[in-house]
Amino acid sequence: MKHFIYSRKSSEDDDRQALSIVAQLSELNAIANANRLSVIDTLTESKSAKEPGREVFNEMIRRIEGGEANAILTWKLDRLARNFDDGGRIIGMLQRGVIQEIRTFEKTYLPTDNVLMIAVEFGMANQYVRDLSTNIRRGIREKVRRGIACSKAPLGYFNEPRLRTIEPHPTNFATLKRMLELFATGEYSLTAIQREMTKAGLVGDRSKRPLTFGSIDHILRKPFYYGVFNHKGELYQGSHLPMISKRTFDQIQNALVANGKLSHGFRKQKGFLFLNFARCRCCGYSITAERKIKKSGLKFYYYRCTHKNREIPCTERNYTRQEKFESEVKRNTELVGLSDEWKEKFLARLEGWSDESLGRKHEKIERLKSELSSLKSKIERLNTAFTEGTLNIEEFKEMKNPLVPQKVEIEQKIIRFQTTHDNRLEPLRNWILQANQASKWAAEKSWLEMKSFLKRVGSNRLLHAQTLSVSFKKPWNYLAKTTVALRGATSLLERNSRMVEARGVEPLSSKLSTQASTCLFGDKV
Ligand SMILES: [Zn+2]
Repeated sequence: MKHFIYSRKSSEDDDRQALSIVAQLSELNAIANANRLSVIDTLTESKSAKEPGREVFNEMIRRIEGGEANAILTWKLDRLARNFDDGGRIIGMLQRGVIQEIRTFEKTYLPTDNVLMIAVEFGMANQYVRDLSTNIRRGIREKVRRGIACSKAPLGYFNEPRLRTIEPHPTNFATLKRMLELFATGEYSLTAIQREMTKAGLVGDRSKRPLTFGSIDHILRKPFYYGVFNHKGELYQGSHLPMISKRTFDQIQNALVANGKLSHGFRKQKGFLFLNFARCRCCGYSITAERKIKKSGLKFYYYRCTHKNREIPCTERNYTRQEKFESEVKRNTELVGLSDEWKEKFLARLEGWSDESLGRKHEKIERLKSELSSLKSKIERLNTAFTEGTLNIEEFKEMKNPLVPQKVEIEQKIIRFQTTHDNRLEPLRNWILQANQASKWAAEKSWLEMKSFLKRVGSNRLLHAQTLSVSFKKPWNYLAKTTVALRGATSLLERNSRMVEARGVEPLSSKLSTQASTCLFGDKV
């Protein structure tokens, strides 16, 4: 095996804990000597790995693809990459066997290792946390912090224009409350509750027609009704009046699950679960559903483009059977699902991180305290000098004045650090739990849940050639990419080794693997 040694350290905050390049190199050379590794070249770089586009790193990848070396020796995995693009390239090369091993101070990573864990070490999750903190900086959250959802008031409430708050609707509030409580009993199907709602006058704003199953489903799942709301994946306590208790909300969720299990029979008689769910990838118009009865009496359910776009002639002529459509929904859900095993591993990893960040917080507080005490003694000395007459009043003011705001600032910082609870990782925890829930829904074939889940985590659901593609929102897209990389790599690896066995052909090139994943999953992934 031929190794490149790669070491990196940037001046950025995250990297402060890392060893200096010189120290990294001396440790790495010791490892190389002890294990008699053949080192082709030693590469160093002082640039952050948060964004793709490091020159030395890219050059190394190019040289490895060219066959100059097939292994990397580095201090820690996060020296190599801290963003998904670079991490993904490394993972892909490892899976294809272009890289045979990545040796670090603690561990050696092999092509057979699980990709998801490696992805975590590359800081996929860090990227997520960072995206969240960008949102904090933008200040969008100010309003949110005060507990006011930045959105149109949901059914049962209205936007109060002067105070800019969300208030209970004079009539709908009580009516919808009654409906939600009815559904929570578990005795009502979606059809039954739709009938009740129509009777009670809860109908479409403009159409005055019964609410669709889709929007009823949406209402039943909205945490807003028990007092919290979701903003970019984080839950906030709202300042609005809750309609129902959290307990009732949980009962509704259970009733929905029970309903989902029954829905198979219901769908067969009634029709179409995935109406208003996807659009045609060719022309952008919505996908409709149809039932066809053959002369033999056999019934078929299928989905197709409405072909109503007059400007862009649609060339999509495929009909997608209900069963095929379902399996596509399931496949897409599985892309962003996490198994129980991986849920546990991720959560364990999170625990480690929160311990780490607690340690860093204490460190920061200690540093600030020592800064504060040195400032205090400086001020003390100036006071003494002034009272002893060494300094006149002008000199005294000039020297002391800038120190006062500094002192106040440090004191406030200390208080802030001591009182704020670090809940940066909370959204990440929620995300892991949701991904795990998704994989359960896929296994249980809970179609309604999967449908609303995909709507929540994906912005576009496009049907083309009987294939459904979803543009996953952040951070779900990271998970989808990882899953695709894992599957693509595994299946290619298997096929590849079978081909090698059968015909003795050359291993597949990297280009082919990219092509394969593009045609399998489209450019939307
Ligand atoms: Zn179309």
